[in-house]
Amino acid sequence: MRVWAVANQKGGVGKTTTTLALGSLLAASGRSVLLVDLDPHASLTRSLGVPAEPVPRGVVELFDSPPASVGSLCRPVRDGLDFIAAQPALATLEKRSATRPGMGLALMRALDSLRHDLDHVLLDCPPTLGLLMVNALAAADRVVVPTQTEPLALHGLDGMRRTVQMIERSRRRPLPVSIIPTLHDRRTRVATDSLERMREQHGEAVFDGVIPVDTRLRDPDHLRQASPEGSRGLGAYARALDWLLGTDHAMELAA
Ligand code: ADP
Ligand code: MG
Repeated sequence: MRVWAVANQKGGVGKTTTTLALGSLLAASGRSVLLVDLDPHASLTRSLGVPAEPVPRGVVELFDSPPASVGSLCRPVRDGLDFIAAQPALATLEKRSATRPGMGLALMRALDSLRHDLDHVLLDCPPTLGLLMVNALAAADRVVVPTQTEPLALHGLDGMRRTVQMIERSRRRPLPVSIIPTLHDRRTRVATDSLERMREQHGEAVFDGVIPVDTRLRDPDHLRQASPEGSRGLGAYARALDWLLGTDHAMELAA
């Protein structure tokens, strides 16, 4: 089982879109995949058709009262794709439980019990460096960092890399970083300059393609259908997936 945290300390950079796109593509290529919505804003949960409230079972239970079988919290999305919903109570989780010992590893422990049932877990992180993001990074064997190609985003990227180094030191295990340039508009000078700087500063850690601005990517149903021929945006995500997996045409292989 591989666990990828999709994280960036900035909001609106395409984390949730990237989680759903990569997760759907992985499922369409025949893998069994779980998405976990760790953001109290619950955009992933809502884009998968679950209303904001009430959500009786979800991520909060993983922390507050882990059930004997974590599988009971999973909801089906499509063949091979399940998700665990975020609940509004996630927003206060930090206050309620940050001081409880071992809380930083709660998610890792819960996911461990699914190790034999899943090929892949994607964690959609909140944009703040708190208990939820720390849990995600502690559980992850890779962090995927969607980053908008604009000057301010480059600063955010430095912050994210310092956070990853901190996690690596405390868990004494490397946490590889994979940066995906998102919402790229190649017609603007500021975007192409920022992309160039991103590649200069972070080299091999940056995906050699980009995810373009594509309105089709705003439609969760389009993302869920996961046909890379369906849009420029999903085609770009399929190439990003190959880059992450180190494969050629993972999607075609499955077809
Ligand atoms: P985050 O999870 O980092 O806050 P989202 O994935 O929710 O970011 O994206 C923010 C907004 O931008 C959403 O409305 C989403 O639909 C839209 N969006 C994300 N990626 C793209 C893209 N490549 N092209 C067009 N719109 C996008
Ligand atoms: Mg989000």
